[in-house]
Amino acid sequence: MTELLFRGGTVHTADGPKQADVHVTDGVITRVEQRLPVQGRVIDVSGMYVLPGGVDVHVHSRDPGFPDKEDFASLTAAAAAGGITVVLDMPNTVPAVDTAGMLESKAAMARSKARVDFGLWGLIRSSTKTDQLEAMAAAGAIGFKAYLAYSFSVSRKQVLYSPGTDDPDLEPPADYGTLAQLAPAVAHLGLPLAIHAEDPTVLAAFRRPISSYEDLLASRPPEAEAVAVSAAAAVARESGAHLHIAHLSSSLGLQAAEDAMRIGTTLTLETCPQFLLLTSDDFDRVGSAMKMLPPIRTAADREALVDGLERGAITIVGTDHAPHTDEEKSLPFEDVPAGSPGVQTLYLSCLQIAKDLGDVWLAPRWVSEAPARLVGLEGHKGAIAPGFDADLVIVDPKAKTRVHAEQMRSRQRHGVLEGMDFDFAIKDVYLRGESVANGAPARGRMVRPAMVVG
Ligand SMILES: [Zn+2]
Repeated sequence: MTELLFRGGTVHTADGPKQADVHVTDGVITRVEQRLPVQGRVIDVSGMYVLPGGVDVHVHSRDPGFPDKEDFASLTAAAAAGGITVVLDMPNTVPAVDTAGMLESKAAMARSKARVDFGLWGLIRSSTKTDQLEAMAAAGAIGFKAYLAYSFSVSRKQVLYSPGTDDPDLEPPADYGTLAQLAPAVAHLGLPLAIHAEDPTVLAAFRRPISSYEDLLASRPPEAEAVAVSAAAAVARESGAHLHIAHLSSSLGLQAAEDAMRIGTTLTLETCPQFLLLTSDDFDRVGSAMKMLPPIRTAADREALVDGLERGAITIVGTDHAPHTDEEKSLPFEDVPAGSPGVQTLYLSCLQIAKDLGDVWLAPRWVSEAPARLVGLEGHKGAIAPGFDADLVIVDPKAKTRVHAEQMRSRQRHGVLEGMDFDFAIKDVYLRGESVANGAPARGRMVRPAMVVG
């Protein structure tokens, strides 16, 4: 039996921050109380915050498919260094995760490399049938993702960032009809239905060559997000499925989502640190790392999203961690692939955003509690309480961190938050009672939702 006592820290609990000791037995939290008797190894965390490990609901491991951009080892090393103890990987790896067999083979590969725990999203294609969803759920999918504007190469088994053409190899994107047909099955499985919310017809109307940041913004108008959110909400509402909007980026999209919630749609919203911290004005300073889809928009959009987070309309902050190689991100702007790493800076950036809003203890709700609840991990992850995994992040609230490419563990080292300062530093990170912040063996496990089959 291995026993640990985290002594003297300020602990995030369901009732708010509390001076308490945390006792851990064999990787599971057993007691959270003041001045516990010494049993096992004592870890002095006086003056520190003790936070629940982060759950990033939106990462792209690139594995299998593009190991030169990232793989499960580098992804989870970055996560571990940043206090993220569960990563939920999107299904658009290559080959894509569109069947139970693919999910199982990806899980086996990830288990051999993961330094933190992981969960896997399953893909909804326009050809997906309900029995495939049921099989993926049985194999452990934490939810399903539909890319409304992206086609699927049947020969390459790859989601493509294009709306599709007459090419017979390209299956058209999942559309609102697909969602309407599959939502009842997803609702029955009790899993979230996540969407990349950009309407393809709006995007088609605004398509243009992308040679500047202005072109990028003009090609992805916020109307595309708002239309997709409204339409997907309408079809999800009928079925009672839980709709999850990935990477919400605009004020208009937020309004559409709140309208849908007001009339009873079960809907959760995820936004990302880059949308809460940056605006299009930062492009001159940051450069091509800022090329991502949806794009970082105006100051008014940023303010609306921060306000939505503060009001609790947006409950989850994920990253859309999507690295490429530094070489690819240095190409001429029109050729730069879209995406930026972010998993390593998620917790620190959210602590800063929460502090600036006047309550630093909001951060673990956005990056741990609400994400764990989204994918049915409540009871094991997302809180510091007896019975939960001892996934703990030790944060020094008096030290500072500057985001530096050299410290990043992802293959793409220059992310959008490069050079930013945060009023916190991560001192250590524990995964089920073992320190993982500074390099760890691959002992990550696959997480599976507690199934609520209705
Ligand atoms: Zn993504």
